Amino acid sequence: MRAMLLTEHGGLDKLTYTADHPTPTPKADQVRVRVHAAALNRLDIWVREGWPGLKLPMPHVPGADAAGVIDAIGSAVSGWEVGDRVVIDPTISCGVCDFCRAGEQNRCPFGGIMGEDISGTFAEYILVSARNLLKLPDHFPYEVAAAGSLATITAWHSLITRANLRPGQSVLIVGAGGGVNSASIQIAKLAGATVYVVGSNAEKLAEAQKLGADHLIDRSVGDWGKAIYSLTGKQGVDIVIDNVGQATLPTSLRAAKRGGQILIVGNTSGPIASIDVRFIFSKHLSILGSTMAPHADFVAAMNQVFAGKITPIIGARFPLDQAAEAERQLEAGAIFGKIVLDIP
Ligand code: ZN
Repeated sequence: MRAMLLTEHGGLDKLTYTADHPTPTPKADQVRVRVHAAALNRLDIWVREGWPGLKLPMPHVPGADAAGVIDAIGSAVSGWEVGDRVVIDPTISCGVCDFCRAGEQNRCPFGGIMGEDISGTFAEYILVSARNLLKLPDHFPYEVAAAGSLATITAWHSLITRANLRPGQSVLIVGAGGGVNSASIQIAKLAGATVYVVGSNAEKLAEAQKLGADHLIDRSVGDWGKAIYSLTGKQGVDIVIDNVGQATLPTSLRAAKRGGQILIVGNTSGPIASIDVRFIFSKHLSILGSTMAPHADFVAAMNQVFAGKITPIIGARFPLDQAAEAERQLEAGAIFGKIVLDIP
């Protein structure tokens, strides 16, 4: 089968396309999916580069997001048929631990993410547990489902479940370009919030405005912390979504209202941030971290995608054999929204 393989950790040159990788055979509780579209995440870059403690059998198939058609079914799987069109829940879980039994699959200590902890989606055929499947509505495009998966469910779980976002609240999104941020804008608007976006340039802010952002702040033209302060009548915002980290977290703490919440689902500028803890206690701030989503939130968020209430933004599409070029463009940060790999 066709697949993009990571041969060892390192640069883009460690990604190799092949047309004759062995096609996998499903175990009893698995199905095999013929992938039609996969989508990139920043996670793919980190997995490619590797980190201490990450030990993957090589060659490794990267990729977390995919949609396609069930092509083979394990002997113990029921409720699914060959030919069913599906999107993959990228959260891997054991299914039996206390967290899994409580429906908190994204906290499973034996779990992980497709493409990070187990073989991923940048391949013609992939194996997944049947409990990671969700049926696509008839005619719903594979590429939209794949683009809507990990980023949308991560944003949904963080804003809706963890932060309990309510109508009338204010949400500041630090960064405009990534998949999580473009999903966050739409989810916050859907929930009835006022949305502020800090972006790196006018072009990305214009895209954020199209998605419904109410207030746009260009960080290239001044102190965005001060801008939030004056735009909110010196109050700050109820919720700050900061997935940039090192470069922005100190300002994010200042931008939050008393009793506000800082949501973190990732970091693009570096993992170690210095924070002034006086802001945390004197302003009664909560810092809420999460990663991925429980399966119930995956289903809830994808149903909003299927209903057209959340539109995953596809910034670029590449054929599978150009996955390295796709990653290069993701790394360059020039594309607004998701990058999709097509496997026709
Ligand atoms: Zn578990």
